[in-house]
Amino acid sequence: MKVRIALAGNPNSGKTTLFNALTGSNQFVGNWPGVTVEKKEGKIKGYTSKGDEAVLVDLPGIYSLSPYTLEEVVSRNFLIGEKPDAIINIIDGTNLERNLYLTTQLTELGIPVIIAVNMMDLVRKNGEELDIERLGKDTGCKVVEISALKGEGIDQLAKRAVAIAKSGKNTYPAHSFEGCVEHAIAHIEEAIYGHVDSSMERWYAVKLFERDEKVQESLKLTKELLDHIEEDIASCEREMDDDAESIITGERYNYIGSIIEDCYKKRVKKQMSVSDKIDRVVTNRFLALPIFAIVMFLVYYVSVTTVGSILTDWTNDTLFGEWIIPGARSALEAIGCAEWLVGLLVDGIISGVGAVLGFVPQMLVLFLFLAFLEGCGYMARIAFIMDRIFRKFGLPGKSFIPMLIGTGCGVPGVMASRTIENDRDRKMTIMTTTFIPCGAKLPIIALIAGALFNGAAWVAPSAYFVGIAAIICSGIILKKTKMFAGDPAPFVMELPAYHLPTVGNVLRSTWERGWSFIKKAGTIILLSTIFVWFAQGFGFEGGHFGMVEDMENSLLAAIGSAIAWIFTPLGWGNWKSAVAAITGLVAKENVVGTFGILYGFGEVAEDGVEIWGALAGAMTQIAAYSFLVFNLLCAPCFAAMGAIKREMNNAKWFWFAIGYQTLLAYVVSLCVYQLGTLLTTGAFGIGTVVAFLLIIGFLYLLFRPYKESQKRNVPKSVSGKVSA
Ligand code: GDP
Ligand code: MG
Repeated sequence: MKVRIALAGNPNSGKTTLFNALTGSNQFVGNWPGVTVEKKEGKIKGYTSKGDEAVLVDLPGIYSLSPYTLEEVVSRNFLIGEKPDAIINIIDGTNLERNLYLTTQLTELGIPVIIAVNMMDLVRKNGEELDIERLGKDTGCKVVEISALKGEGIDQLAKRAVAIAKSGKNTYPAHSFEGCVEHAIAHIEEAIYGHVDSSMERWYAVKLFERDEKVQESLKLTKELLDHIEEDIASCEREMDDDAESIITGERYNYIGSIIEDCYKKRVKKQMSVSDKIDRVVTNRFLALPIFAIVMFLVYYVSVTTVGSILTDWTNDTLFGEWIIPGARSALEAIGCAEWLVGLLVDGIISGVGAVLGFVPQMLVLFLFLAFLEGCGYMARIAFIMDRIFRKFGLPGKSFIPMLIGTGCGVPGVMASRTIENDRDRKMTIMTTTFIPCGAKLPIIALIAGALFNGAAWVAPSAYFVGIAAIICSGIILKKTKMFAGDPAPFVMELPAYHLPTVGNVLRSTWERGWSFIKKAGTIILLSTIFVWFAQGFGFEGGHFGMVEDMENSLLAAIGSAIAWIFTPLGWGNWKSAVAAITGLVAKENVVGTFGILYGFGEVAEDGVEIWGALAGAMTQIAAYSFLVFNLLCAPCFAAMGAIKREMNNAKWFWFAIGYQTLLAYVVSLCVYQLGTLLTTGAFGIGTVVAFLLIIGFLYLLFRPYKESQKRNVPKSVSGKVSA
């Protein structure tokens, strides 16, 4: 007989460890249809003979079956849609309270559930004991104690799980809600009778009671039926004086509290842990932000200013500048390579890719710090602290982490948005993360500040300010559109106890982020440097196509001239600036280098000090600032666009994001240039009128009222601090 068993549990409960122990290395890894969450499947060892087969499916780690995160939606779609023969619910024995929250929901699904209490080695070491039998009675499930890490209890678990899957005997929840809730649920079950699989009625009824929109949609209930259900819910809410979702959550936690009373044979006296004491200071209302500012200052001081820049300078100046580039050149010349090929290989490819790789050491140091902060638990606190602020303009606190990582590189920044609960919040974060100046935009800032503003100290901070303002305004404006209406999901995030992260985990996370940056250098930048090298070196000159003497005749100049008019209202409608902005789409660090080439300097320093004079002659200060703003806000580099595409997983949303960013960049730059010119020279023209109209439109979008549907009362931010 062939059975399929799902493995469900919280993140970090030991799912992967158990999965590997049960299946050996024999697994299939793919993606869930239509989403970018990993799907793992494997056969349980020892059950593959005699026509017997037990397939184990590793579900994404989740805390509940609500529809707030992609992981939750994927997991519950699998459980409901595919109805596995059994569920192994792995729970972390050292953290029963938090883990049992999911258990209370899994047992309502009408699928046989077996509980595997993991980390028993730690539980025993802590001097605690669990009463397995009571736990089984209280939850209505079979329970097995295991240590996935040490391989204890694994065989017994596999045997029991397969037996339960074959028996087809459902688990029934051993818990009932408060009278009026049960009353409403019974009514709802009656109302949906025949619409759903009969064994799953209770789960659907509870979800409908919670007004779960995804379930409401999927059942396609008539308006009448929904209204009828709504009456029951509303009367229960009146009786309990709370909203439906909170009633259910509250009751679940009461129930879990009673289970824990029952099962812990030897309870350690509860006292304030070290972690709690640290949190008293770190998440303190007044101290939290200053502490955070100091931590971030230190991180950036080390990774960008000191250690990072030493490493990056060494990579750029010594490794590439003195060894690789001259070495490659003389090697190629020694073997008699054609001059144009040496040019392509050395000046085009190696210098182009090298310029990007130069950022890698700096990036790795930054990612190392961030991985440590994430691993030790501080990042979760930052999200919690920022939630109070971000919520005011419609973003969840968790979107701060992608933005923070985005200051290094937008690619891992966009990828970090995966942890964000609800779909709308995540999409909005993906759209706005790259407004924050990433590491590669810093040279552009240095160039403009140096060339036109005498290196004024305010230019760089103003770039961050523009980025942050763009995020805040976008948050507010987008929230007021129908697409994004609705409050950010309430803050539910585990605040794990502080601990020293393992070296392996920190290094792995650092490497994964760094690697996504390096890959970009190897692929997209490689291709584009070849293209730019070709387009600037070739063109029509003297009536035929070939290598050009004068860059003004190159293909690149032709392209730039063809589109330069677009940027005239922004103050920099000349082909050189247009070309620089285009190569910036390939990679932002290209902008400075392109100016260098276009002004005839070939290789320039990172901040392009050689061309400051030429640039100052070509642009006014206002035009240059408008150029800077455009490059900061417009569509990010190709690699980051690729990341956006992957994470949006939908072509329409991808184009919407890119279009929105570019449009915003255009509008803001236009206003900067037109109003700046008006103020400095008094020049008034059609452009000025357009700028004023745009500003009025912008203010309208910013200050118009929220959509009606948003007035409903949504739970405030609550800390998910639920450790047992
Ligand atoms: P997942 O996020 O649910 O896939 O969890 P992992 O399998 O990655 O495990 C999280 C961490 O818990 C890892 O560091 C494991 O080594 C550790 N771990 C897993 N099972 C046990 C166990 O039974 N005992 C102990 N002490 N650690 C465990
Ligand atoms: Mg895992």
